[in-house]
Amino acid sequence: MEVLDGLYAFTWQSFHENNCNTYFINREKKILIDPGHDHLFSHVADKLGELNILPSQLDYVLITHGHPDHLEAAFRLQHPSSMAMSREEWQFIQQWAGSNYNLPPPDLFLEEGPLPLGDVTLEVYHTPGHSPGSVCLYWPEHKVLFTGDVIFNQGIGRVDLPQGNGAQLKESIRRLRKLDVEILLSGHGEILAGKEAVQENFRFIENYWFRYI
Ligand SMILES: [Zn+2]
Repeated sequence: MEVLDGLYAFTWQSFHENNCNTYFINREKKILIDPGHDHLFSHVADKLGELNILPSQLDYVLITHGHPDHLEAAFRLQHPSSMAMSREEWQFIQQWAGSNYNLPPPDLFLEEGPLPLGDVTLEVYHTPGHSPGSVCLYWPEHKVLFTGDVIFNQGIGRVDLPQGNGAQLKESIRRLRKLDVEILLSGHGEILAGKEAVQENFRFIENYWFRYI
């Protein structure tokens, strides 16, 4: 689905498999955000194919956080694509994966602040809580926020997974709320469009979910 000119959402609707929404920016650089589970990658490949894009043509694969339902397929895309995640998340993954898995390191680390990728500049926000090195990506040009598993339409990410932290998640969400967002693209569930709908969602989350974390 085309969200706006040059931005596509490959949302995941099957309840039988846990997989994430994948987003694709098609500008000077071809940027994929969260490719999802490896065994479900044909879903993404098919959607790219509808746009006449091959996975090998991707320039960047950006990872919001290292849970397998977001990250796993990134390793098959790495080289020629450059794969990026935060340094904290890479350390976290290595701790949990252990030395049995020889995971290739990211090609670049996502640092807090502007991330120029061709004619698109995203802003990286470190948003720990669901996972220790989680990031959200804000695209000021279109007031789009990619939230990974920090917030969803009507929900928030789990904090009971390894190194989850409710206080940190609240702080991360409070930071995001200050951004001028018109389209909220979360890692699972429905897309949220419209400035008022996005603000209403933040209000709901703080009023309802904050008492549980
Ligand atoms: Zn997650």
